[in-house]
Amino acid sequence: MKAVLSLLLFAFFSSGFSQSFVVTNTTVFDGEKVIENTSVLVENGTIIKIANDIQVKTQQIDGTGKFLMPSLTNSHVHAWSALALSEAAQAGVLHLLDMHGMEQYQATMAQLNDSTQYANYFYAGAAATAPEGHGTQFGFEVPTLTTPEEAPGFVNDRLAAGAHYLKIIVEPWKNTLSNETVAALIDAAHEKEIPAVVHISKATDASYVLSENADGLVHIWWDQPMAASQLKQLAEEKDFFIIPTLLTSVKLLGSIRKNATEEMKLLSDEAIFAEVKKAYDAGIPILVGTDPPNAQINYGTDLYEEMKLIAEAGVPVLDVLKGATSLPAKEFRLGKTGSIQPGYRADLLLLEKNPLEDITHINSIEKIWKHGKEVSLSNNN
Ligand SMILES: [Zn+2]
Repeated sequence: MKAVLSLLLFAFFSSGFSQSFVVTNTTVFDGEKVIENTSVLVENGTIIKIANDIQVKTQQIDGTGKFLMPSLTNSHVHAWSALALSEAAQAGVLHLLDMHGMEQYQATMAQLNDSTQYANYFYAGAAATAPEGHGTQFGFEVPTLTTPEEAPGFVNDRLAAGAHYLKIIVEPWKNTLSNETVAALIDAAHEKEIPAVVHISKATDASYVLSENADGLVHIWWDQPMAASQLKQLAEEKDFFIIPTLLTSVKLLGSIRKNATEEMKLLSDEAIFAEVKKAYDAGIPILVGTDPPNAQINYGTDLYEEMKLIAEAGVPVLDVLKGATSLPAKEFRLGKTGSIQPGYRADLLLLEKNPLEDITHINSIEKIWKHGKEVSLSNNN
């Protein structure tokens, strides 16, 4: 009976408090680079030290032959319930960035950020769109705007709902915001010191919003190639990133292409991949996002598919890993996560195989820690 009680107490303590541990003799991707044969010490949820000789009396986890890296971020989702957050956490995706949804649900889901079994959740609130524009067709009420003068009030409303960044929709296949309104929204977001990211589908809209200082594109354009020289110039003059959502385009554009009229011309998958490579070569950060639940994409393991597609497009695997870890943390100002550095949150993955040798090894996750606490894996114990 005593033994049972102490076991129960142990279970209570191990789930209730952050663990201290050291992962020894492992290969580390720290969010920037690879460090061979090193150890990482975690105390009370925080990374304390990365060194090859750590002498502390704490739980030792043998990392020999394994690979330790920051947890993953999906930079483009639409989450409708806490199930999305738990599905993500099970796949090592510990940050979800929502790009348009119902603000009352979003605020409730963000309350799970301290719970180990759920991904951290950040959101744009409702995206900025025109009356009857893209984003208004899902059956829930969406605030819209029509003039540049409304932009500061729109941004204030999103901030009041807990938004971390602004999402703007420019989709001319439906009613859409005027160029002036888009520019005013970007300025209003910057006035409040939050990033402004934009849904575009056309190359000309992409270059317009980037020239107006948008911080990022949440898809790559689909209609025509952008000249490499123009991309290079934009990359030199402006500071922005792209979340290409290749899995979404591969899954969705096939059927759209079949029904497309002449003026709705769409690039082939190969041509879209070539745009991503061109953007990477121009020095633009490429972030990883999948736009679930569009095209029945899930919130967890499908992020691995996106990483694979970005690598297939020609982005080196090390940069694909950055695009799912340190880059979103920096670009979306998520705080001290996404890197293995002293003082950072211990949001970590221990993999059995090295994904730098083969990107598909990202699915070999053995352990996941959220803020130093181990996520219990439902299908892997
Ligand atoms: Zn989306």
